[in-house]
Amino acid sequence: MKITECRIKVRDLVAGYSRDEESGEVVAYGDCKSEDSKARLNIRPKYQREFVYKDKQRNAVIETIFKGFPLNTMYWVRNTESNAEYEYEVLDGQQRTISICEYYKGDFSLKEQYFHTLPEDRKETFLNYGLMIYVCEGEESEKLEWFRVINIAGERLTEQELRNAIYASVWLSDAKRRFSKTNSLAEQKGGKYLNGSSIRQEFLESALAWIVGKREDKAICEYMAKSAKDCKNADELWGYFCAVIDWVEMKFPTYRKEMKGIEWGLLYNEYKDKPLDKEELEKRVADLMADDEVQKKSGIYAYVLSGEEKHLNLRAFEKGIIRAVYEAQGGICPHCKETFAIEEMEADHIKPWSKGGKSVKENCQMLCRECNRRKSDK
Ligand SMILES: [Zn+2]
Repeated sequence: MKITECRIKVRDLVAGYSRDEESGEVVAYGDCKSEDSKARLNIRPKYQREFVYKDKQRNAVIETIFKGFPLNTMYWVRNTESNAEYEYEVLDGQQRTISICEYYKGDFSLKEQYFHTLPEDRKETFLNYGLMIYVCEGEESEKLEWFRVINIAGERLTEQELRNAIYASVWLSDAKRRFSKTNSLAEQKGGKYLNGSSIRQEFLESALAWIVGKREDKAICEYMAKSAKDCKNADELWGYFCAVIDWVEMKFPTYRKEMKGIEWGLLYNEYKDKPLDKEELEKRVADLMADDEVQKKSGIYAYVLSGEEKHLNLRAFEKGIIRAVYEAQGGICPHCKETFAIEEMEADHIKPWSKGGKSVKENCQMLCRECNRRKSDK
């Protein structure tokens, strides 16, 4: 990986500055020598959340420049892919950069003075100020590692926002158009089934985790790298996401708040081809919701599909019950008839939960570890 230290004058940075109201995209650093002055720097990518800078912080940036004091180093990523929309993207320093551009454009004043009302020499001071920029370029995986390190100090980005900075592409812009803006299509379609928010990229992250089959950074990066290279749009991801939500609504048409935040895509991947009956599922879900023994209600959905009790976090016997039963048995294991210390024994449901047994004293027996293991193996 290559990191280059650059000094970029404010004059060059603000050239070609523009802001798209619909997508929120902010760009600058046009070529001031050429006529069309196409922006080369993506300051805020499309549909990324806006960090709101307070007036005080914004003014401090401008005052620092007029005094000629150093601003903290900013970080840009250089994108050398041929299909990249912009040559550079700001990774850290977005708010400072936007403040500088907005002041230049006259969006706000400092001490009652707008940029265009300043005397020429003051304008020159501002325009000639050199910003300290580290430009980084290299393998995608190296960049991601490095971003994580500098992210600790700067404006905190989520993992998915960091990945978005690396895989900037036409494919990603299309994905973000659907998944990442406030009240996005994804939010309208499946917001009540997902945790997090569109603008922090959590919906996009979930859709990616689901389509690759696991919530794992490496797998998500691989999918993003491949799509950024090969795809002109994000139709595949969007179509998949819609199929997941449609399946959820078909199989579980009664909405409950516990359905928010479940890894629906992973369940979809595994059970989409099973012949499931929605009426039967609803009856089982309703019964389990009313069952006091089930402590993790959101696990009911994975349980009715998989049959695995681990999803339910079933109630365990209380300490007082364990002690009382141990004393009543006189420390003797009813299966092997040997005597044990309480620490060497385990509480067992005489009638298991699956057959209607509850976690009450009458349904509790203390078994030695070995007998308990032998019982649960049956
Ligand atoms: Zn025993």
